[in-house]
Amino acid sequence: MIKLCTIFLIVIALESAGQKTPAVSTNNKGIPAKALDSLSYDILFNTIRMIKVAEDPKKGPDFFMHDLKETNENGQPGYTAPYSVGGFNAIVRKEATSWGTGTTRWVWEADITSLSQGLTPDQLEKLDIKTDSLLKLLKYKEGKTVNMVESVHSRYYSFVKQPVVSIVLTFYKPVYNSKAAASDSLLAIYKPILLNPAFARAAASKLWGAYKVEDFTEPEVLPIFQNLVSELAPQKIESVYEILMAVPAGTDHKNSMELIKPLTPSQKEAVRALAQKVVDDYYEKQRKQFQGDPVVNQVQKKKELSGQSDCKGIPENMKFKFRTGLTMQHYNYGQTRIAVVTSFDCSMQKVHLIQYGSKDKTPIINITLTFTEFTNWERCPKQYYRCSHCAGEGGGLITAYDTKVKELPFGYFSGIETKVSRTTSRTYWEACKYCTGSGWELLPDKAPYN
Ligand SMILES: [Zn+2]
Repeated sequence: MIKLCTIFLIVIALESAGQKTPAVSTNNKGIPAKALDSLSYDILFNTIRMIKVAEDPKKGPDFFMHDLKETNENGQPGYTAPYSVGGFNAIVRKEATSWGTGTTRWVWEADITSLSQGLTPDQLEKLDIKTDSLLKLLKYKEGKTVNMVESVHSRYYSFVKQPVVSIVLTFYKPVYNSKAAASDSLLAIYKPILLNPAFARAAASKLWGAYKVEDFTEPEVLPIFQNLVSELAPQKIESVYEILMAVPAGTDHKNSMELIKPLTPSQKEAVRALAQKVVDDYYEKQRKQFQGDPVVNQVQKKKELSGQSDCKGIPENMKFKFRTGLTMQHYNYGQTRIAVVTSFDCSMQKVHLIQYGSKDKTPIINITLTFTEFTNWERCPKQYYRCSHCAGEGGGLITAYDTKVKELPFGYFSGIETKVSRTTSRTYWEACKYCTGSGWELLPDKAPYN
């Protein structure tokens, strides 16, 4: 804690002096301490608060397990963190449970900035290095057992759409429920989602991962999924098919074979028919790609002819490009950009194109080109079509239920029930997995231009 005292002294010195840059001080390693700006203060202050939570035996998982915020692809749940830095996203994620040692590994992930704040990737990288050096000053009870901190460091996620710098603090708490309670809680969350075939595959894959997080072995998870399959089959056979697609097949398709065991012969036949339809659709798409769909061709040709009268200056062989709704592509230095023509103006000699974004519908590409620039664009062999799985909605609202069993502190009561169960629900938007929320699917062109 000596190092922390130094930091706080700097902060106090800063405040009383009323100036932004303090006199150069040194920490106990003799390294000159840099001026502590408000972001650095915010980072250290909140990380220390979270370290205190991690080390405090009186603060169990119920301290940060209030609101389930998200579940990642691995099925790891993330809860709204008690502390965050500067109003950015912060979650406490359950990483893994070990029933053998009675520990659960948790990670506090607190974003400290993102590319959307106007910083360049280079500046983000520098901030990551600076943050990491600040975090190295911290002292904590280091270890891999309950109420101990495994590590704290800075992380720069550069490969995502919105690169972000975060603080990552890994710590351990005792397991807070029984294996059976963990399973009940997971099923309560996932069952309603699994009933919707559009989301069932992603949900089943997350649920499989979530059981891994809870330290269930494959032989333990399989019977649970078998029950799930036999329960869902009479209600939504499409969901059963999606679950079968999501679960790792296992050696020699062992898992898949186990999962279809509880199905009745007619249910098995229904699943087989669904699988057959996917194969048929695939070959039908292939056929259309080569032969074209006569009806679609007619409709598209008609569309191309309308709205062209005031665009006299466009050469005859280029006219096909000037049609709203046409998906175009452009190669540049090995990169392909794909975008849809939304409008064009012949008097201004401008074309406007967008590439559909996801949930919030913000286009990924949103550009206006001159006709000259547009000559480098060509018709894309794939075209955007309204997603057939979500009818172009991009997703739907889902209500999930979470039942938590809380137990009063041991030893304070006797002869009375010390467990309290609480069910919470939340409704959230789940993106359609086929179009990742955009409502549009990029499919082989149904009407190749001749
Ligand atoms: Zn969709």
